Amino acid sequence: MENLRVRFAPSPTGYLHIGGARTALFNYLVARKVRGTFVLRIEDTDVARSTQESVDAILQAMEWLGLSYDEGPYYQSQRGELYRAKIDQLLAAGRAYRCYCTAEELEEKRHNAQAEGRKPKYDGTCRGLAAPPADKPYVVRFLAPEEGETTFVDRIKGAITFRNEELDDLIIQRSDGTPTYNFVVVVDDATMGINLVIRGDDHINNTPRQIQLYQALGCQVPQFAHVPMILGADKTRLSKRHGATSVMAYKDLGYLPEAMVNYLVRLGWSHGDQEIFSMDELVEKFSLENVGKSAGVFNPGKLLWLNEHYIKTGDPVRLGRCLAEFLAQKGLDPQGGPDLPDVVRTLQDRAKTLIEMAEGAAFYYTKELEFDGKAVAKFLTEDKIVLIKELIAGLEDLETWNVETIGAVFHKILADHELKLPAIAQPVRVALTGGTTSPSIFDVVAVLGRETTLKRLGEVLPLCGA
Ligand code: GLU
Repeated sequence: MENLRVRFAPSPTGYLHIGGARTALFNYLVARKVRGTFVLRIEDTDVARSTQESVDAILQAMEWLGLSYDEGPYYQSQRGELYRAKIDQLLAAGRAYRCYCTAEELEEKRHNAQAEGRKPKYDGTCRGLAAPPADKPYVVRFLAPEEGETTFVDRIKGAITFRNEELDDLIIQRSDGTPTYNFVVVVDDATMGINLVIRGDDHINNTPRQIQLYQALGCQVPQFAHVPMILGADKTRLSKRHGATSVMAYKDLGYLPEAMVNYLVRLGWSHGDQEIFSMDELVEKFSLENVGKSAGVFNPGKLLWLNEHYIKTGDPVRLGRCLAEFLAQKGLDPQGGPDLPDVVRTLQDRAKTLIEMAEGAAFYYTKELEFDGKAVAKFLTEDKIVLIKELIAGLEDLETWNVETIGAVFHKILADHELKLPAIAQPVRVALTGGTTSPSIFDVVAVLGRETTLKRLGEVLPLCGA
C-alpha cells in the first residue's frame, strides 16, 4: 500500500493493557516495515472516564516498549469544531436527521419490539419529520441505508458482510451536543488520512456503521484488520483475574521491554517455529497475513521464559542501568560499589527478572550484610579461621586482581591443606554474601573488589570464634 498511514487510538480510561499494547505494536510494525506513518490519537471524548493520568500512563508504556509514533498525540477533546462541522455536513446533505424521541418513547418502542419478537431497532419515527417540534431536545441520527449489504474484506478475518436492515440509525450526536464514538472515529480516521485500521476485534460490529459513515461523508473507506482478542488460560477474556494485565506492571515486576514486545507479537502472530525476535527482525518479518484468526491465550510462563532469555543475552551495560532502578527500590546505591555491568555479568545466568537480579546483587552493595544464621553455624566454624587468614594474606598481596589470580590464591591454599574447593568456597561465600548461594566464588571476589572482600573476610573471623 502506498503511503501507509495507521494509528493507535487508545481511550485514556486506564493503563495500557496487554491487548492494547499488542494492537499498538502491530500498528507500529506495519508502519515501520513500509516506512509508513504511525499516528497516535487519544480518544478522550468520554470526559467522565478519561484522565490525564491514564494518558501519561499510556504514553509511558509506549515509550518503554519502544513504540515511537510519527504524528500526534492528537486529542479528540480538542477537535469538537471539526466534529460539529461534519455533523452539519451530514444534516445539510440529508444523510442525518434530528430525532426528538424521548428516552421513555424509545424504551417503549424497544419493549414493544421485543414483545413482538422483532429486533429492537430504532423505527425511524423522526426520519423526514415535516414539522420538527421547536425547543425540544434532540439527538442527531445517521440516516442509514435500509436495504442492501455492507461488506468489507478484513485483512485478518477475511470477507465480512452485514445486512443493512440489521443496522440502526445510529446516534451521532447526543442531546448535549457531544458527538458519539463511532462518528468521531470515522471523522478522525478520514481527516487524518488513515488507510489501514488495525484494532481489536471487539470493534468488528462497529465497522459496517463506520463504513456507511465514510461513504456518507464522501471519504475513502480504509482497509481494516481486526486482531483477535486475548484470553486467559481458562479461555475467558483476559482480565485481572489472570494476573497483571497492565504492561507497566510487568516493568515493575522486573521484565524487559524486549521480552514484552517479543511476547506480545507472538500472541496471535507466528513465523514458522521461531520464538525469539528482535525489534528489527519483527519490522522485517511481521505481516498481518500471518496473524491468526482465533484468540491468543496469555501465557505468563512463556513471557517469563522470554525475559530470562533477554536477561541472559542482554548487554550488561544496559542491564546495569535497568538494575540500578531495582536496587534503588531496595534502598541500595550502586555509587561507590562494584561496577554495575560487572555485577550483571555474574548474575545474568541466574536471574529470570530484574527483581531476582536485584535480590542476587544486593550483597554487592549493602553496607550491612544480612547473615543466614544456619549457614553461619554450619560453615563459619573454628577450623576455617586459618584458611580465611591465609586467604586474606594471599589476596592482600595480589598485584593483579582478576578471576585467574584470585583463583590461584584459593587453589594454593587448598593444595597446602589438601582440601577440595567447597571446603573454602562455602565459608567464604557466607562471609562475602551472607548466604550459601551466589555466583562463582572467584567471580564474587573479583567483582566485590579487594577492599570489601578483605573487610568482610576480616569481619567473620570473630564469628568463627577467633
Ligand atoms: N478507542 C477505542 C478503544 O480504545 C479504539 C477505537 C478504534 O481503534 O477504532 O477501544
